[in-house]
Amino acid sequence: MALIERIRLQVKGMVQGVGFRPFVFRLAQEEQLTGFVNNGALGVTIEAEGDSERVAKFVSRLQGELPRLARIVAIDMSPLEPLGNSDFVIVATTHDQMPRTLISPDVAMCDDCLNELHTPLDPRFAYPFINCTNCGPRFTIIRQIPYDRPYTSLAAFAMCDFCKREYMNPSNRRFHAQPVACPNCGPHVWLEAEGSPPLRKGVFAIAADLLRQGRVLAIRGLGGFHLAADPRNSRAIAKLRTGKGREHKPFAVMVADLKIAEKLCCLTPESKTVLADPKAPIVLLPRHDDFCDGVAPGQSKLGLMLPYTPLHQLLFDQGLDALVMTSGNLSDEPIATEIDEAKARLKGLCDGFLLHNRDIVARCDDSVVNMTSRGEVLIRRARGYVPEPVFLKRGVPVNILACGGQFKATSALARDDCVFLSQHLGDQDHAQSFAFFLECTSHLQEILEIEPAVVACDLHPEYLTAKWARAQTLPRVEVQHHHAHLASLMAEHHIEEPILGVVLDGTGYGLDDTIWGGELLFGNARDFERLAWLEPVPMPGGERAIKEPQRMAIAYLRHLVPDRWMDHPFTCQIDDNKIGTWSHMMAKGLHAPLTSSCGRLFDGVAAMLGIRLTATYEAQAAIELEMIARDVSRVDPWPFELHHLEALPLKPLLEPVVQLRHNVPHLARAFHETLAAYWVRACELARDLTGCFRVGLTGGVFQNELFTESMVSGLEAAGFDVFTHRQVPPNDGGIALGQVAVAAAQIEAGRVLCA
Ligand code: ZN
Ligand code: ZN
Ligand code: FE
Repeated sequence: MALIERIRLQVKGMVQGVGFRPFVFRLAQEEQLTGFVNNGALGVTIEAEGDSERVAKFVSRLQGELPRLARIVAIDMSPLEPLGNSDFVIVATTHDQMPRTLISPDVAMCDDCLNELHTPLDPRFAYPFINCTNCGPRFTIIRQIPYDRPYTSLAAFAMCDFCKREYMNPSNRRFHAQPVACPNCGPHVWLEAEGSPPLRKGVFAIAADLLRQGRVLAIRGLGGFHLAADPRNSRAIAKLRTGKGREHKPFAVMVADLKIAEKLCCLTPESKTVLADPKAPIVLLPRHDDFCDGVAPGQSKLGLMLPYTPLHQLLFDQGLDALVMTSGNLSDEPIATEIDEAKARLKGLCDGFLLHNRDIVARCDDSVVNMTSRGEVLIRRARGYVPEPVFLKRGVPVNILACGGQFKATSALARDDCVFLSQHLGDQDHAQSFAFFLECTSHLQEILEIEPAVVACDLHPEYLTAKWARAQTLPRVEVQHHHAHLASLMAEHHIEEPILGVVLDGTGYGLDDTIWGGELLFGNARDFERLAWLEPVPMPGGERAIKEPQRMAIAYLRHLVPDRWMDHPFTCQIDDNKIGTWSHMMAKGLHAPLTSSCGRLFDGVAAMLGIRLTATYEAQAAIELEMIARDVSRVDPWPFELHHLEALPLKPLLEPVVQLRHNVPHLARAFHETLAAYWVRACELARDLTGCFRVGLTGGVFQNELFTESMVSGLEAAGFDVFTHRQVPPNDGGIALGQVAVAAAQIEAGRVLCA
């Protein structure tokens, strides 16, 4: 005899406004269950009753067959007494149960829309703005809420009868699809090529021809302008590099489809899934392409993405296989969105503009994901991800605004158990990036309806975002940079008990007024202790040393061999005047702050090995050091002894480098292995001290795949549970999340006076 049971499921995640309830209804019908599904303030409640095997199947299908845009973060399941309902119903949402609707990120074009785009008799055949409830622009077109057409940039376009009929029909794929449009009523594209009048017909064929001829085009896209060029045309690529003022930093490439992607890069089933995901990020993949050197000079990986809007698709339909698609800006400026702005800023860089008249409300760059042996690592979180929240284990006590850091900045707004991180806002040492920070933070407050009661920021006295936070009238929590990194990782993994945190990055202002960046912390969002750090050395010239790894090399040499550094072959190849200036700075402690930075250590080693003396983009030296290290198969770490925590001596990590004991690739590899083993050993000492065997790895240095792999395997072999980032980047793009967590914990501990 069949066993009848009833269960209640409390489902949290992206389950509202994504077709989740109709999906639950269908599953329940198919499994012949009775009960109901209901929207609540904190998620969806389901009660399901029926044959116990079918109930179990329902629960597993619920998680396995989710609608395209739904994501389950947690399911709480509890047994109930059977009630003997006669059917399964969708309970109408009453007003006070109204969920705070989550605003969807922008979604890459779906297969249904792609089919229509390619169907000659379809009313939206070859229409660059085709979309439906499963795909299309969202975050980037929303001016204010509720998410309704009049409050989006589609407000300028009155729907025609055909579109309206689809929009009003509950059984149509475009039912309540706010950006719905067609050639009769929606936005349009045009081409303004140098020396020709604006064109509205045959735009894509001509644009593709221009690109094939080696021209550079500025293309207005979803979150801003791209600059597009043929990746096999070295003149076009060189023009792009000169124009943007970007010497070496790799360009991303958009490819027609997965087949082309496979010709250019090594794909795995996982990386194909990520490429084809509705989020459509740029995915970094091992390359074997035939592009010219200028596309991604000296890189072992190439960033690929698929066409994610119908506009991109129509361009690639003209027989193109790959295009460099780099953000439409000068180096370090925010991406251009307005037509006039783009014309003014990009004029000299391109030979024409492919434009459209659907306004971009929220500036949003492409997201970047690295595919590693341990899964996806976010490098830049923006289009497709924002404003999807990171769900906390528990709600925050009051609404919090976190201002993030200075570099690769993001801000964050928190309400209940949701933390909404902003899109990537760039480096905040440029006035335009800071204006973007202000613009984006107020846009997010508007569309998420979050009025902050507390503001959190970095402890750094000079960060623009922190100075801005200090000028607000709200109660404020200033968070130590590396504490924020650790708290961010713990928030992602819902960990509240203190853990060990190896926090390795470029720079962060320390509690002792020095620059931290090679830290072993023990703690949680509430409190932390600094158990160990790399022995500090001076940074001659302060931030200048970030752009010039050769300065760090000199600092390490001087530290390690104080009596011989002047005669070292590395020192001898550098101009005497420079050496004199730097040496003076370090000796007098003038303009030479002390740092325990691990990022600088990588820089210094790369410089000493002659790999890169000056960098043209952030972490270039470290990236190149990693690539050279990859040319050698695993080597043993150099021998060292470590018996004490606190200041960790640099000698065991640097001596073989200083003495140039092996060839450069071998030294590069052994440095990686030794540094990893060194931190593993430090963690063992910390475990003896604290009894804690959980370790979190965070900070920008963990973008280094080789080093991360080496540390994870070392820690696991030593019996540790290891945590790395999944939902936010390990770099400073993730610290706003940590600032939220720390602020929430300080409020709960009664250390912040809130109104
Ligand atoms: Zn669609
Ligand atoms: Zn229409
Ligand atoms: Fe950092």
